[in-house]
Amino acid sequence: MPKLATPLYELHLHEIPRLAMKTAQKLAQGVAASLGAADPRQVTVEDLLHYLPMRYEDRSNLARIRDLEHGMFATLEVEVRIAGSYAVKGGRLRIFEFSAVDETGQIRAYWWNQVYLQNSFPRGRRVLLYGQWKRGRRGFFEVENPDYEFVSDDDDSTDPIHTGRRVPVYRKLGEVRTKQLRSIIYHVIERLDFSEVEEVIPKEVLARNGLISRAESFRQIHFPTDETPLELYNKFQSPAHRRLIFEEFFWLGLAMGLRKQGREQSPKGTVIEINDPVRDAVRQVLPFKPTGAQKRALGEIVADMTSPRPMNRLLQGDVGSGKTIVAVQAAVVAIENGYQTAIMVPTEILAEQHAKTIKRVMASTRYRVELLTGSLTTGRKRELHEAISKGEVDLVVGTHALIQEGVGFRKLGFVVIDEQHRFGVLQRAELMNRGYNPDVLVMTATPIPRSLAMTVYGDLDVSIIDEMPPGRKPVITKVRGEEARTKIYHFLDRVIREGRQVYVVYPLVEESEKLDLLNASQMAEHLQTAVFPKFRIGLIHGRMKQEEKDETMEQFRRGEIHILVATTVIEVGVDVPNANVMLVEHAERFGLSQLHQLRGRVGRGNEQAFCILLAGHKRTAEARERLAIMEETSDGFKVAEKDLEIRGPGEVMGTRQSGVPAFRVGNIVRDYAVLEAAKREADRLLAARSGSSETARLIEIVRRQPKFGLAAVG
Ligand code: ADP
Ligand code: MG
Repeated sequence: MPKLATPLYELHLHEIPRLAMKTAQKLAQGVAASLGAADPRQVTVEDLLHYLPMRYEDRSNLARIRDLEHGMFATLEVEVRIAGSYAVKGGRLRIFEFSAVDETGQIRAYWWNQVYLQNSFPRGRRVLLYGQWKRGRRGFFEVENPDYEFVSDDDDSTDPIHTGRRVPVYRKLGEVRTKQLRSIIYHVIERLDFSEVEEVIPKEVLARNGLISRAESFRQIHFPTDETPLELYNKFQSPAHRRLIFEEFFWLGLAMGLRKQGREQSPKGTVIEINDPVRDAVRQVLPFKPTGAQKRALGEIVADMTSPRPMNRLLQGDVGSGKTIVAVQAAVVAIENGYQTAIMVPTEILAEQHAKTIKRVMASTRYRVELLTGSLTTGRKRELHEAISKGEVDLVVGTHALIQEGVGFRKLGFVVIDEQHRFGVLQRAELMNRGYNPDVLVMTATPIPRSLAMTVYGDLDVSIIDEMPPGRKPVITKVRGEEARTKIYHFLDRVIREGRQVYVVYPLVEESEKLDLLNASQMAEHLQTAVFPKFRIGLIHGRMKQEEKDETMEQFRRGEIHILVATTVIEVGVDVPNANVMLVEHAERFGLSQLHQLRGRVGRGNEQAFCILLAGHKRTAEARERLAIMEETSDGFKVAEKDLEIRGPGEVMGTRQSGVPAFRVGNIVRDYAVLEAAKREADRLLAARSGSSETARLIEIVRRQPKFGLAAVG
């Protein structure tokens, strides 16, 4: 009997009908590919069973043509009559179609641009067709792009695997087609030694959440029982789905909890106290009255700092909600207690700007604030390294290189990581390896939906700034086409005459970087010579020398440049309140979060700000949706939710360093409720952890899963 741990390479030894060694290997390769580059020799029956159907069909009653109704989804078994293909729309598209019959009538099935299907449907071939049926022009029912499956001649027409029951429909797995896969999985489940399928989740947890057993869920998820409406299966909400999805999220919850516990156990080297002089110092750097949300966030941060456990906190807040000053106030607390602070940001422009802002608000203090970036001279760098290692520098702003290049601090007590989305997940281990165990505050660039925050930053505490500084008006956003360009230029002319400044943003994508840069600089030149000869136009992009960038930014800040043409280098953090109109060229090429980030550059003062999204007419449906959302809302939390919905977690977090664990059955957006329940149970279990052997067993299971990277955590 095959077991869950049986490698698929050996599955042919278990007398599964029509499963030759070759097929077993193909199967293993298919599953390996679906899991993302696993070694096919290590892929097991358990992995195969986690390859879930994309949907289910009720074939317990195949429909007859006579019984079809307009708009109905149904499976028919029919016999092909006449097939052929022809061109439409001036030859740009081809349709392949055939007519087919059963004992009660005739239908038509057709596909767009899939002429290769032509040889697959000879006259007389019997086939199952599934799709939405509509009444066509000649009175026959038609179906567009149906799913199909051949009924082979040696099939017993009452084959109990494929018809006369509810059946799973799989996405083709490598070279193995849905029907073959269904048959293999059917026989594997038939033969599987279920007594060996161990229950891994504690009984009380199963009971509390109304979950079925692991063994039962494997059986039902492939061949649905009749008690549950098929609709629930198709929505991934059947008991079998809930159970497997819960399990997957339960491990995640445990992993996050363990990581947090591990950190909390390691002693922090700092002792922070709050007294009146510290409070006074904190108040002194405040240039304005903080919002309630800012006060609350600072309170939570300071509570962490004074506690014996190291802080690991995520500060969430929309663009422009005022996260910087909160971090600066916390830095004052650290400095007053005799510790150094490091603020890390993703770009040099932002580092410059932060250093400037912070120097300004700290001007009345004795603190030494320094900027450390890669473009300093070697001599200057060496000087700073020395001052930092002697503890003479109280606060240093820099890029990630601050930590990576191994700058030695004397007493590093507080680390702020700003605009986190650019870094991927911070490896605290990296800091600890360097001999530090400071308080860490991570600040997001744009809000992260709760589901993502829970999966990617689930081991962090979270503070949210959900209130904008007073007097802010939402940015008015409009999507426009090329025909509006002249009108837009008139508008820009007016606002500049009124004393305001403008950003014109160009996309920069790696594949066409040269061309895009050319576009941006040509645009700057064109605007200067042909459109706005009386105004001063500046240009800034990532390929410029640091001094040039600084010079340009400084001139813009001083109001000497009226229009700043920029690539997305200004995406994060840049803060010039007088610039409150933004024109985004080729807006259809930007992602949603990116557009929101960019838009966050304007609307930082009290005057009404505008964002004009100029888009080409060849917009994909997705691009149209993105632009419509931007017009509709300026709430970053809403934008983030939509972005996640449209693109999925891996893309939103940036695929390479996403930090989003790969889930096999769960989907954090679709299954958010299950994610929450599983997290709750995991937390509960760890809180009650009193060395029970059951808990130890669960922790062992989590540790063995490399995706959580827990092996090294104490
Ligand atoms: P972000 O959260 O995007 O980093 P910033 O910290 O850059 O936002 O703040 C955006 C702007 O709002 C800055 O110009 C800042 O000085 C200003 N600001 C922040 N908090 C307040 C406040 N409570 N009252 C008035 N202005 C504020
Ligand atoms: Mg910021």
